[in-house]
Amino acid sequence: MCSVGDMFDIDISGEAKVNEYICRDCGKEFKGIGKNLRCPACHSMNSEVK
Ligand SMILES: [Zn+2]
Repeated sequence: MCSVGDMFDIDISGEAKVNEYICRDCGKEFKGIGKNLRCPACHSMNSEVK
């Protein structure tokens, strides 16, 4: 009730904010949502957006 902006923000993140990442440690490319994602191959958090 207090903020329409909050609801809109949730709607966006639930839709399609999928980025492509590449792991700096093993070079694995993967897709994910958000920041500080864990590499599915080596579980490193040292990844960056392609
Ligand atoms: Zn990796």
